[in-house]
Amino acid sequence: MEQNNAVTLEKIASLSKRRGFVYPTSEIYGGLTSSYDYGPLGAELLRNIRNLWWHEMITTREDMVGIDSQILLHPETWVASGHVTAFNDPLVEDKVTHKRYRADHLIEQWLDKHPEVEKFQVDGMGLDEIGAYIEEHHVTTPEGNEVFPPKAFNIMFQTAIGVVEGEKMPVYLRGETAQGIFTNFNNIVNSTRIQLPFGVGQIGKSFRNEITTGQFIFRTLEFEQAEIEYFFDPDKTEWEPLFKSWQESMYHFVNETLGINADKLRWRRHSDQERSFYSKDTYDLEYEFPFGFKELWGIAYRTNYDLQQHIDHSGKDLSYQDPQDHQHKFVPHVIEPAVGVNRLLLMALCDAYWEDVENKRVVMRFKPNLAPYKAAVFPLVKNKPEIIEKARGVYDMLAAKMGVVWDDRGNIGKRYFYQDEIGTPFCITVDYQTLEDNTVTVRERDSMAQERVSLDDLTAKLLSEIEK
Ligand code: ATP
Repeated sequence: MEQNNAVTLEKIASLSKRRGFVYPTSEIYGGLTSSYDYGPLGAELLRNIRNLWWHEMITTREDMVGIDSQILLHPETWVASGHVTAFNDPLVEDKVTHKRYRADHLIEQWLDKHPEVEKFQVDGMGLDEIGAYIEEHHVTTPEGNEVFPPKAFNIMFQTAIGVVEGEKMPVYLRGETAQGIFTNFNNIVNSTRIQLPFGVGQIGKSFRNEITTGQFIFRTLEFEQAEIEYFFDPDKTEWEPLFKSWQESMYHFVNETLGINADKLRWRRHSDQERSFYSKDTYDLEYEFPFGFKELWGIAYRTNYDLQQHIDHSGKDLSYQDPQDHQHKFVPHVIEPAVGVNRLLLMALCDAYWEDVENKRVVMRFKPNLAPYKAAVFPLVKNKPEIIEKARGVYDMLAAKMGVVWDDRGNIGKRYFYQDEIGTPFCITVDYQTLEDNTVTVRERDSMAQERVSLDDLTAKLLSEIEK
């Protein structure tokens, strides 16, 4: 029978550091708030997640293309997207859920339900005045919780282009990858053969000066996003079935491709208050992290808000001319599925973690396609040149097809223990018998079952297991 102790964030963070998945960044200088580096295994795991996502969402779909836009975009982009205005607004944070609200929105909403209280105009008021009003009238969030004192939030990181002081042009590190897709809309339509409905995907770094921090890599200042903008003509494509089909694609990726436990996944629909004013519908696919169900992957129907904003701000025509009907020119609508790659990685770590109490081992039960190394090759002994040479041959043969690791330290039991903890699905031992009959011992990670396999069949056998 399977036994398992609860997975905690502390256990995940400790294993991550001990085995080289995730390190606190700049640790020798005391670290940097909410910033992490990915070690040798974390880098492999990130790459596997990215590659699986790109393969499934872009390579294998004829209606999708990918781009790779800049981190530094023209600053007007962020005025059009609303990120710059938002950062001048005083925000307040729910003391319990840590959800942030623009102070004016929160007060307005709250006043709607408390008509007896004197009205208050947030515009033009200082932070102290807003804070005093909230305190005096016990203004709470829609969930009924108190808020921290208001602060002027600047979620965009600013830097500058230019080397001469006084002539520098302020620019922002992008707060999301999506805007590089919208600003390239015309380029993509004009340079490819693609026609509506079609989507554009991108994976890349985003930066946010987050105020809610402290949950390991769940929310970091620098992170990687995998975003899709799926463009369509609302007169020809009904948005609801399209939205549903994207929800199915997201769920398939997490549950089937990454092998994540369905019990830990759920959909949450955004309430009317929570949703952006331009969005017709928004759902979050949530995963049950050790600190509760939290957003993993959001999907929103954003209408044509974003393209229209860029039309208004750039003065450029970003409408789409229907190639079948030249009278029909319009601004496409979008559905946006947006996920954080690092959040997928944290989910993969939490979901894989298993304390096998009976066998006194910790096992990272990654689906083999996710595992940083697919196989480990062990020469039984270190002092027998024929065995070492044979094992090197096995390593080279497998390394041509998959990620493998060489391990000749300590006894075989210790090597299994280590490989279990980093989630390697197969351990291959080359021993005396290998020299005689060209077979090796293959030991499977979860069941610990061992079998002898001929070296002629080994690569094909492992590949078929990994590709499942
Ligand atoms: P929140 O409200 O939690 O700050 P959000 O709803 O604004 O996040 P989106 O802008 O929709 O998030 O970003 C899309 C995805 O990017 C999220 O679902 C999440 O997986 C990821 N993400 C967003 N912010 C961060 C962050 N600071 N660190 C890591 N991943 C993030």
